[in-house]
Amino acid sequence: MATVGLDTPVKFLKGIGEYRSDLLAKLNVRTAHDLLWHLPHRYIDASTVVPLADVKVGQEVACVGRVAAKGVVPTKRGLKIFHAVLRDASGALECVWPGQAFLDRSIEVGQTLLVAGPVRFYHGRQMAPREFLVLRETADDGPGEWATGTVLPVYPATEGLSHKVIRGLVDRHLDQLIALSHEILPAGLLRRFDLPTLPEALRAVHRPPTIAEAEQGRRRLALDELLDLQLMLGRARHLAKRSRAGLQFENKRELTTQLREALPWPLTADQRQAIREIAADMTSPERMHRLLMGDVGTGKTVVALFAMLLAVENDYQAALMAPTELLAEQHFASLSALLGPLAIQPGLLLGRLKDGEKAVVRGQLASGSMRIVVGTHALLQDRVGFHRLGLVIIDEQHRFGVEQRAALMGKGEAPDALLLTATPIPRSLALTRYGDLDMSVLRQRPPGRGTITSSVRSETHRERVTQFVHDECKAGGQAYIVLPVIEETERADLLAATTMFETLRTLWPDLAVGLVHGRLKPDERDRVMREFRKGAVQVLVATTVIEVGIDVPNATVMLIEHPERFGLAQLHQLRGRVGRGASESHCILLTAKPSRRLKIFAATQDGFKIAELDLEERRQGDLLGQRQSGDAEIRVARFPDDTDLLGQARDLAHTILDEDPGLEQPRHRALRERALARYPKAEVLFRVG
Ligand code: ADP
Ligand code: MG
Repeated sequence: MATVGLDTPVKFLKGIGEYRSDLLAKLNVRTAHDLLWHLPHRYIDASTVVPLADVKVGQEVACVGRVAAKGVVPTKRGLKIFHAVLRDASGALECVWPGQAFLDRSIEVGQTLLVAGPVRFYHGRQMAPREFLVLRETADDGPGEWATGTVLPVYPATEGLSHKVIRGLVDRHLDQLIALSHEILPAGLLRRFDLPTLPEALRAVHRPPTIAEAEQGRRRLALDELLDLQLMLGRARHLAKRSRAGLQFENKRELTTQLREALPWPLTADQRQAIREIAADMTSPERMHRLLMGDVGTGKTVVALFAMLLAVENDYQAALMAPTELLAEQHFASLSALLGPLAIQPGLLLGRLKDGEKAVVRGQLASGSMRIVVGTHALLQDRVGFHRLGLVIIDEQHRFGVEQRAALMGKGEAPDALLLTATPIPRSLALTRYGDLDMSVLRQRPPGRGTITSSVRSETHRERVTQFVHDECKAGGQAYIVLPVIEETERADLLAATTMFETLRTLWPDLAVGLVHGRLKPDERDRVMREFRKGAVQVLVATTVIEVGIDVPNATVMLIEHPERFGLAQLHQLRGRVGRGASESHCILLTAKPSRRLKIFAATQDGFKIAELDLEERRQGDLLGQRQSGDAEIRVARFPDDTDLLGQARDLAHTILDEDPGLEQPRHRALRERALARYPKAEVLFRVG
């Protein structure tokens, strides 16, 4: 075999070959580089191993011993328990794995095991290991893995390829692969930020003397990952600014003033502030690229309308794109109402319109006689052309791909862009995820809205809760009932929307009950939603299809079944469907498992706080996931643990970009290449605006 490089396919590495290389591919390990970057997901610290004789009941310990006896014991209740007795020079300890009879096939007498877990008293001391590792196959198997170090890295494994085998492979090639990797940050920065070098970090992660050192190494790798993202965001922003100046509108205060005077209510202070920020962007020669973030009901639409009118009074057109027909129609209705006194008629372009109707809208857009258009993906079609598109607004922007956003922008000459989102994002994260965007935030809800009372109710209250929903509707209100699945066949243990619908229809002949879920035809779904909006349907049984954007002010009850199945942010979105009118609203979480998490949710209304909590529940991998950030992939960084690294990554990126905003200098070449390879789509992201 010729020399090994980092791009050598793993099958050419010693000890791997075709068969194992196919298995490794399942773990996304294809090249030598991937193997080096296949990082342990946890560690076992063998330096804390306790002699078997010293193990005490009530402790959580790690022990090493040889399997002296083993077997499967059934209990009276039919559960099968795998038992093994471990021995060392000091004594013996019984270990039990309830419900894991299959271990009988892999654990053998004579093997040396490392076990870690809690010890309790049951006819003597007994451990129920949370972890175990086979250290040696037989007594004369040499020193085994123990010799490697006192900290054992545990790697993500796959069927047919145990973590032990993977550890062996990594260990065997580690020195060679580390020798091939180089530091890519300038030495001055390493000193200034007190960072270990990349080769040091890789070694610490794979072969750590202590768990603390492994963690330090991982943090360096995580920092690089976040740094690359910051660099790409900063660089692309720089390129976008350099390559394309934007439109410079003039703040004529004609239509915008008319709108302000015609509004049925005063703007909130947040709305006024956002409008000022947007106007400042639009009247500057740079291209606007702004995110308007506001919880449901904070009034983003009217802010967007001010921006549209600013474009229109400068003789440009504005387009608003929404992710569903229903939302587009809703925007169209609110814009039409707000624009009534100004004698401006917006247009609507939806896929379901008749060909003739679409052709009319297209004609008016092409001639420029239609100044404001609202639509769905239908706006993206090639045949849709604008006379002078000056402003693009995208609602629930995260539901569109980067390419779709870019396609709409591409229909004008560098139009300004305003993106709307109802998902509150903690500031630190927002800067990472949307480092390329300026941000305006609406925090206050307009006054005059009824309060929303949230409560967690257990199954024992089911009847009372149901009665309450019924009575609210009889009194003129409307209710949403949300379930996690459509049909019972999906999950026998969960209440399903269709079942609930049938039950309520029989139970409440005096109320009109509707059903919407993702498997209905869009026409049918829209029809039911329209009926609900009109008040012809009083109780809407639904899955989370109603999550985003639906505005029915008369709806005052949101009943969520199996709330434990939903993320906190999702629950918050659902709750935002009520409390949109003047009367008091209720959000009821009905669950067999009332938890602290649900109670915390019920106790707070602050979308940003909920977003922080939600973040704690999820890995940032999701947040920075493919859809949302131009294929960004965060693998090493963990949140919230590494939140502090975000700031450090930003500082580093600024230091580098201040000197070399396009990463064009030769000494930044390796950095640029790595970042581009990690985030291949980051460039496209910025062409968007
Ligand atoms: P969202 O931010 O959820 O998109 P919308 O723009 O749909 O919110 O506004 C929600 C409702 O609040 C609409 O009915 C709108 O007319 C109303 N609204 C917006 N701004 C104000 C305000 N300043 N005062 C009173 N009502 C307002
Ligand atoms: Mg909205």
